[in-house]
Amino acid sequence: MKKAYLGVDVGSISTKGVIIDKNNKILAEAYLWTEGNPIGAVKRLISELANQFEQKKYKVVGVGTTGSARKLTGTILGANVVKNEITAHAIGTTSLYPEVRTIFEIGGQDSKIIIIEDGIVVDYAMNTLCAAGTGAFLTSQARRLGLEVEEFGPLALQSNNPTNIAARCTVFAESDLVHKMQIGHRREDIVAGLCKAVVTNYLNNVGKGKKIKSPIVFQGGVSKNIGVIKAFSDVTKEEIIVDPNSHLLGALGVAILAKNKKSEKDFDFDINEIEFETRGVECKKCANNCEIICVFKDGYLIDSWGNRCENGAIKIKEQS
Ligand code: SF4
Repeated sequence: MKKAYLGVDVGSISTKGVIIDKNNKILAEAYLWTEGNPIGAVKRLISELANQFEQKKYKVVGVGTTGSARKLTGTILGANVVKNEITAHAIGTTSLYPEVRTIFEIGGQDSKIIIIEDGIVVDYAMNTLCAAGTGAFLTSQARRLGLEVEEFGPLALQSNNPTNIAARCTVFAESDLVHKMQIGHRREDIVAGLCKAVVTNYLNNVGKGKKIKSPIVFQGGVSKNIGVIKAFSDVTKEEIIVDPNSHLLGALGVAILAKNKKSEKDFDFDINEIEFETRGVECKKCANNCEIICVFKDGYLIDSWGNRCENGAIKIKEQS
């Protein structure tokens, strides 16, 4: 049987997964909403991938996880690689675009910028605090305008005169949007203005002080929005490259990292039968009161983290 590798990227909004072969070719892919339940999302993702995957021809021998729930997911899937999003996105992107110098990434609730030289990450920044430069912001503003977020991009392209929208933070942007609607700005101009506001906010926050050089690759869920792509191109005066799999590049990157690991272990797709549970426990041994996350598989503790020192470590008993 041929070898394959699974990469899973679990974020707060969406959960992504790919299975690749030894040449990094994607054999199966899935993208779904996390819906506040990373364990449930990973189970659904694995079922979806199993349906697409030729299990008679290939076997998965390596698993990598990334994203905000990477540790939890890594424990559940028995991953041999658990990596942060910066590394995963950089590896995924450079595998397709070896010359890339700048990666813009805008997801549902966070955004990042990665600066690359000769295929190596030399600088990066992440924004997890202000929503004004993220997909969640665009979705909420679309609703306010009575639109689906998918309608945003094509509508923005119809504008010749994007409305200026204060982009400093979500609250300012929202009140400014309402004001511009009341004084009669056209809907396409407001939508184009919002796309530009997301870009300006992004460049003034995560992009602040960064040496943005071409080629630029834009990824994450918001990279599907043609209005935001155009706004990036207008503001930076550079070509913006968006891969057809721009939403999967973190998962691809961590699958490649799993492939590069020497250790191999056959992966069992049948995780739906297994009961996983997480519990938070507060360590009271000092004033830090660390919240320790414990993961139980069929009632047995299989992993824990969150303790800032060894005094708070929770011992895992061997299953008999
Ligand atoms: S884990 Fe260590 S640092 Fe955290 S509360 Fe317990 S004793 Fe304090």
